[in-house]
Amino acid sequence: MNQETTVGIIGLGNMGRGMAQTFLREHFDVVGFDIGLEQQEAARAQGVNVVESIQALCAATHVIVLSLPMARHVQSVIKGEGGIIEHAQPETLIIDTSTSEPEITRTLARELKELGHQLLDCPVSGGPAGASSGTMVILVGGDKPVLERATPYLDALSSKVVHLGESGNGHVGKLINNLLCAAHLLTTAEAVALGKKAGLEPADLINGLNAGSGRSAISEVNFPRWVLNNSFDSGFTMQLMRKDVKLAKSLIEDMKLDLPLSEQITSSWAASEKDIPDQDDFNCIVKPYGFGE
Ligand code: NAD
Repeated sequence: MNQETTVGIIGLGNMGRGMAQTFLREHFDVVGFDIGLEQQEAARAQGVNVVESIQALCAATHVIVLSLPMARHVQSVIKGEGGIIEHAQPETLIIDTSTSEPEITRTLARELKELGHQLLDCPVSGGPAGASSGTMVILVGGDKPVLERATPYLDALSSKVVHLGESGNGHVGKLINNLLCAAHLLTTAEAVALGKKAGLEPADLINGLNAGSGRSAISEVNFPRWVLNNSFDSGFTMQLMRKDVKLAKSLIEDMKLDLPLSEQITSSWAASEKDIPDQDDFNCIVKPYGFGE
C-alpha cells in the first residue's frame, strides 16, 4: 500500500463512513477503526480495510482522520493506552474532523508537536450527505505548513476549506456556526408556526422565505428535507447537537460575555433533554412548535 494515498479513519459512524466512501471514490486506500461492530461491518461492506486496533491502523498509514463524538474520545484515541501516540509512525498527521473543544485541541496539538507529529482541527459542516459526496465545508485551525500537508485530503472531502488561524480556532468557528444553526432552528420553527396560525401553508411560506432575506440553511435545507416531510432523518443526533450548544455556552461563559439571545437559545436546547431523547434527529427540536405530528 502506498502510504501517501492511504488514509486511516478512526470513527466509522455517520460521518466517518461517508468520508471513507469519498476517499475510496477519489482513489485513496482507506484503513478504518471503530469500537462498534455494526459500524465495522458497514464500513467493510463499503470497501474499507477495517482493522482490529489503532496499532494496526498506524502501521498502515501516517495520515489519520478522526471522526469521533466528543473531545474525551479524541483524547483517549490519541493519548490512551494502545492509542495513536503509542503506535504512530514518525511525523504522523492527524486531521480531527470531530466537533471538539478548542482548549483540549490546543493542548493535544502542542503535545503532539513535541513528539514530532501534527494535529489540525478540521471540523466539518454538511452532514453525512456532504461527507459521502465530498462537499463538506471545513473550518481549519493550525499552522499553515500543516494545512498544506493536509490539503490533498481536505480537498477530496470538501467544496470549501476556510483557515481560521491557530490551533483550536477551527473548533471555535464550528461551535459558533452550530450555535447559529441551533438558533435558526428555533427562530424558523417559531416563524413558520406563526405563519400556520395566520392561515399560510408551511411549504409555501418556506418557499417565499427562501426567496427573501429571512432565509438560512435551516429554511433552505432542513425544513424542506427533514421537517415538513416528517422524515427527521438527517443523520445528526440531538445528543451531538446538545453537546455543541453546551460547548458554545462554555465558550461564552469562559470569556464572561453577556449575550442574552445566545443564553435563551442554549437554555432551550438544554431544557430539551427532558423531552427529546439523545438518539432522535436534531431537527426534532422544532416538534414542540407543532411539526412532525
Ligand atoms: P457517530 O456517533 O455516528 O459516529 C462516531 C463513531 O465513533 C461511532 O461509530 C463510535 O463507535 C466511534 N467511536 C467512539 N469512540 C471510539 C473509540 N475510542 N475508538 C474508535 N471509534 C470510536 O457520530 P457522527 O454523527 O458521525 O459525528 C462524528 C463527529 O462529527 C461528532 O463530533 C459530530 O459532532 C461531528 N459532526 C457530525 C455531523 C452529522 O451531521 N452527523 C455533522 C458535522 C459534524
